[in-house]
Order: sequence, then structure tokens, then C-alpha cells
Amino acid sequence: MRAALIAFLALAIGGAVQAQAKETLEIAITFDDLPLHGPIPQGETPLSIAQRVTAALKAAHVNNVMGMVNGRWITTQPETIEALRVWRSAGLPLGNHTWSHPNLNQLSAAQFEQEIAGNEPLLEKLEPGGDWKWLRYPFLAEGDDPAKRGEVRKYLASHGYKIAAVTTGFGDWQWTAPYARCVAAHDQKGIAELKRLYMQSARESVTFDRALSKALYGRDMPYVLLMHIGALDSYMLPQLLDVYRKAGFRFVSIQQAERDPFYRSDVDPSLPPEPQNLEGRAAARGIKLPAQTDYAVLLDKICPAPNG
Ligand SMILES: [Zn+2]
Repeated sequence: MRAALIAFLALAIGGAVQAQAKETLEIAITFDDLPLHGPIPQGETPLSIAQRVTAALKAAHVNNVMGMVNGRWITTQPETIEALRVWRSAGLPLGNHTWSHPNLNQLSAAQFEQEIAGNEPLLEKLEPGGDWKWLRYPFLAEGDDPAKRGEVRKYLASHGYKIAAVTTGFGDWQWTAPYARCVAAHDQKGIAELKRLYMQSARESVTFDRALSKALYGRDMPYVLLMHIGALDSYMLPQLLDVYRKAGFRFVSIQQAERDPFYRSDVDPSLPPEPQNLEGRAAARGIKLPAQTDYAVLLDKICPAPNG
């Protein structure tokens, strides 16, 4: 059975998985790190990036994209509130990414719970009565020990929260710093190469995650895509949306996607936790995944940092 799964996975990753006309492919896009995902390149601001992202979504008629907020930016860089206002003016919903983006693995459960609660006044102010009680764990770190993980889940359940899971993504955040370096160096060739790799990584992730979902469940689940509100993301978004659309995806809200039974323990944190994301579930079943391109190594070499 395991061998069969691996064989299937290898086959599927080889490109055998194609969107079929009758399949319903759904994906919920989420953007993390509102209002600021840095480093911000020269000539850009959190506001200019948010404007470009929301314009691209509007042009593609994609709404219901949830923006995950770290409120602390509006105290350290007050002008960043404008990026959040642009998001809301576009009619897009918000979620909770904690106040200051800490890693739960380095905090106590009580400290982390304060991070969640501390973000709420801002979310309520920006989206009064909104369905913003969706927690996206910073660094996707749900707690390094089962007791802490369980304690935070208990808190979430008793405070009406759902977990904003991630079931697809392509490490878009890895492009943020190299892009800022290339902009600073006016290196157009470097920027072109970053864009090429960005799209390559996105296409690979669609094939990989679909194959994994099919190997695990025999079907495509409604995916939740992790993105970040970075400058290069804002420029690439029209092309990226096109990749998903051409693959046969329909864009849905995270509320809609997480109605799928796969997300049962995310929408109800009072249930026992499952292994995180598709890779975690595969590992729990002893399925060995094929190696993926290591983009970090490639990106480090593009417009390299002076001392790097
Ligand atoms: Zn984040």
C-alpha cells in the first residue's frame, strides 16, 4: 500500500495530474503579515504594496481574500494603518496573526494568548462585527510540545476562534529579501530571474500539493494558500492568479474551504489536533515525499548581500 502511494505520488509529481473539466478545484487565498511584510524595497511603502495587491485582486474579481494582521506595526510605524484601511476599503476581510508575530515555540501559552487578545481591539475597529476570529499561527508554529499546543487550542475553542490552516504555498516570503536587494542594486537581470523562479515555484507547488492530496485522500481538497503581502508578491499577483485559474481553480473564502472534513480539527480546536498540513499528514502515514527544489539556495545567489 505504501509503495503504491509513493509510486502514485512520483507519477503525479511527474506531471500526470491535470485539471479535468468536471473536477471542482477550490482554493482560498490568504495574505499574512498585514500591514507590513519586509524588507520593503526602495521606492515602495506598505501602502503602495497593499494598493497593488488589492487592485490585482479586484481586477481578477477575486474577493474574500483574508489578510492576517499583526497590529503592532501601527504603534511602531503608525502610517502602516493606511495599508490596513486600503485592504478594508477593498472589502477584504481580516484575520488574527497575533499582535507582534512571535513564535509560539518560544513563548508560554499564556503569553501567546495575550498576543492573540492584544490584536483584537484593532481588528474589531477595522472590521466591526466581522468574522476575524481566525488565527494564523506566526511561522505556522502551533507549539513545540503537546501540552502547550493543547492549552492554546483550548483557549481558541473557548474564545470562538478557528485555525487558519495552510494546505498549499510555495514559500513566497523567501523572495522578499532578495527582491529588495535587487531593487537596491538596480539589478534588472536579477529581478527577472527572481520573477522566473517565483512562477516556477508556484507552478511546482500546485502539482506537488495536488498530488499529495490525491495520494492521501484520493481527491483534491479545497486548498488554503499561504501568501505574504510583499512587494514582489504585489507585482506577481496577476500572473499568479492566472496560474491557479488556468489549473482549473475557483477562488473561495477560507470559511468555505475549511468546511471540508480535512479541516475538522482546525475549525473546532476543542477536537484533538491532527498533524499539521499535508506534509504532516503524509509523514504521520509514513509516506516519504520526493525532494523539492531548494529555492533558498538559489535565491541567496541572486543579488547577493555584500557580506553574504
Ligand atoms: Zn507571518
